Amino acid sequence: MNKDNTAIIRCPSCGAGNRIPVGRIGAAAKCGKCRKPLPSGNGLAEYKMRCSDCGAKNKIPAAKIDAGPKCGKCGQKLATAQLFKPQPVMVTDANFEDEIIKSPLPVLMFAWAPW
Ligand SMILES: [Zn+2]
Ligand SMILES: [Zn+2]
Repeated sequence: MNKDNTAIIRCPSCGAGNRIPVGRIGAAAKCGKCRKPLPSGNGLAEYKMRCSDCGAKNKIPAAKIDAGPKCGKCGQKLATAQLFKPQPVMVTDANFEDEIIKSPLPVLMFAWAPW
C-alpha cells in the first residue's frame, strides 16, 4: 500500500507520473522527465470536506490530515476518519441518515435488493 505516504502527480506537460512524498507536496517539485514544474498544491495536496456540524466546506492540506483539523467556520473537529473509512459502507434503514445524509463526503450510492 501507500506505506511511505507518496502521491502520484501526473505531469501536465509530458504526462509522466511523478512520485512525490506527501510532506513535500506544495514545495516546488519538478517533473523527473521533462523538468517542468509540477502543479504543486493542486487537488492531490488537499482534501475537501464538509463540516458535519454546520455544513461549511473546508479544505484540509494533506499534511494536516492527521493533526485533527477543525472547521474554519464553527471550530467543530472535522471527521477526517471518514476519509479513511473502509469502503463501501453497507447502508440500511438504520444507518441511512448517518452514512448518507450526514456524510461529510460525497456519497455514491448503489442500491440493490435481494429479489
Ligand atoms: Zn513532464
Ligand atoms: Zn462547521
